[in-house]
Amino acid sequence: MKRFEHRRICVAVSGGIAAYKACDLIRELYRQGAEQVVALMTSSSEAFITPLTLETLTRHPVYRTALENAPDGTPTHIYLAQHMDALVVAPATANVLAELAHGLSGSLLATTALSFTGQPVLLAPAMNTRMWTNPLVTRNVALLSELSNIHIVPPVTGDMACGETGDGKLAPIEHILDGLYQALHPHRDLLRGKHYIVTAGGTAEPIDTVRVLTNRSSGKMGLALADELSAMGARVTLIHTMPVENRTYPCIPVQTARQMLEAVLETLPHADGLLMAAAVADFEADNAQDTKIKKQDSLKLSLQKTPDILEAVRHIRRPDQQIVGFAAETHNVLDYAQEKLIRKNLDLLVANDVSRSDIGFNSDDNEVTLLQPNQAPIHIPKSPKSLIARAIGLTLASSASVASTLVSL
Ligand code: C5P
Repeated sequence: MKRFEHRRICVAVSGGIAAYKACDLIRELYRQGAEQVVALMTSSSEAFITPLTLETLTRHPVYRTALENAPDGTPTHIYLAQHMDALVVAPATANVLAELAHGLSGSLLATTALSFTGQPVLLAPAMNTRMWTNPLVTRNVALLSELSNIHIVPPVTGDMACGETGDGKLAPIEHILDGLYQALHPHRDLLRGKHYIVTAGGTAEPIDTVRVLTNRSSGKMGLALADELSAMGARVTLIHTMPVENRTYPCIPVQTARQMLEAVLETLPHADGLLMAAAVADFEADNAQDTKIKKQDSLKLSLQKTPDILEAVRHIRRPDQQIVGFAAETHNVLDYAQEKLIRKNLDLLVANDVSRSDIGFNSDDNEVTLLQPNQAPIHIPKSPKSLIARAIGLTLASSASVASTLVSL
């Protein structure tokens, strides 16, 4: 499933040098399944990019003036509010922030934003640090943040086009897309106030300085979980072994089972739950070399068991914390999973059959059964990992019955 399937998005571009990045945003929205993207330009943005550029990328005429009606005769701003699921202003200049914060209606962008009362309006500010840190701008952002349908995607620190460095650079496109996904999420406040630790990826256990013992886990399930729980309003900390880019939540990179254990033990006291989606190696070399072992005709490796993270957590967890384990099995999946649920004192166990090549490791899809103590198993048919993650999030919010229907996924 693509994140913006069936969505109709209006991208409004105002006049800053970051205007050119709206082009990538539009392309990415289409790549991620948007049904229609339309562009709205302020007159000053036309000094930076041309309407033809955005018309070509959106495959739709660009809305440029307040004094023109939409093709059906409705005023443009009302037409957009009636037909679009969200308005994304990227970049949003200081002028746009001021206009919107004070409810002005002197431009097509302002009248359109004022008309989006039921749908999300996402603002991605971009300006020089001096302007971004000006108390007037800070005050306008604070005023805008009070509105429940307005979502600010904060700018980041970096090199500015003007040669200065500081805060105020347009957020990466991925942040804007994550913000939009979250704003449109049907359960976006369900986990608000909760903090979950998610582990993801296969650990790699050193044999010597260059070689490791690892497994085929891609980390996709754990990443989907972290993304989805975050979109459902939770604070997330991701402990990961695979490369992860451009996330809005904190990410702690680790390599080995021992490093993962340490990171879990350090973060768990501050969390409401732990989701151990990582494929932790079961063995490590009992005598890893700190030089490269020379090539030779044969080599015997002596392995020992890695620390079991869930076992360690079992002893220190608070009763109010939710601990979720994953069981990847190749046969008798449910029997082993049921036993693991009890033995590891888990609140939820996600069982899947890794003998199938169309799901599980490295795939974008999964088919799982959710097991909880004293409750009937919930089978989730083959679905994209993001939807499996959503069902897990719903179960965490203790709406198992909702999860079982897999709601309006
Ligand atoms: O017993 P098994 O390894 O199949 O259990 C899988 C679950 O236990 C997963 O959630 C995995 O992340 C976790 N695990 C762990 N520490 C290990 C091995 C697995 O916490 N050393």
